[in-house]
Amino acid sequence: MVGAIANPSQKCHVTVTGRDHRRRSVAPSPKLLVVEDETDLVRTLEYNFRQAGFEVFTATSGREGLRLAGTKNPDLVLLDLMLPDIQGVEVCRQLRGDPKTRTTPVIILTARGEEVDRVVGFEIGADDYVTKPFSVRELILRARAVLRRGEQPSSVDVVKLGVLVIDSEAHRVHVEGREISLTALEFRLLWTLVQRRDRVQTRETLLNDVWGLNLNVETRTIDTHIKRLREKLGKAGTFIETVRGVGYRFGAAADGVS
Ligand code: CA
Repeated sequence: MVGAIANPSQKCHVTVTGRDHRRRSVAPSPKLLVVEDETDLVRTLEYNFRQAGFEVFTATSGREGLRLAGTKNPDLVLLDLMLPDIQGVEVCRQLRGDPKTRTTPVIILTARGEEVDRVVGFEIGADDYVTKPFSVRELILRARAVLRRGEQPSSVDVVKLGVLVIDSEAHRVHVEGREISLTALEFRLLWTLVQRRDRVQTRETLLNDVWGLNLNVETRTIDTHIKRLREKLGKAGTFIETVRGVGYRFGAAADGVS
């Protein structure tokens, strides 16, 4: 097994730190389905996710993946796009079309530079994606983040993210103890990104959810507002990451690394 994780093409980390310990934990043993035809990678993922407390099922073809998704009721699916039989995009579509798996989170595994696939991944309802080669440790963190999103939101009103403190009830924002004055729209934009932390939001999604449907606003407007929001947030502005060709994400920098 150790040989599998020593694969030099991947930045593997066996140990998973307890950085997440202050957050609510997900189900004791979340069920993960890995659909991937590179057997070395499958073994690496299987080993590391088991170490991280997941129950892991694996499939090396799209058809087998769909079968396991239907019988094992996974909490999360890791789905490779390039599969020998049914392509990952089609697998994702079928998962979304089946009432049993319609809401099961899917993280797409994609080869480097497949920019088109990224967009398609979100269009077909994937929850996140990682580009190969990837750090398994980061993938596990992303997987946990995706699972957290499926939990019922807690009634916490004040959120502390490194230097950033947000009081969602009072609509007040502090950075390094200093109050930041945001417009109602800027607050909504920030709060939307924070609530969907670690998850990329397309400009279209932000337009719908922050600005509201039926508004005649250009997607470019979002970039302008993000720019202003980042400036106002100062040090915490870097928490809002640009994901090129897709949109924006409230990222891991807020974990207090800065
Ligand atoms: Ca593949």
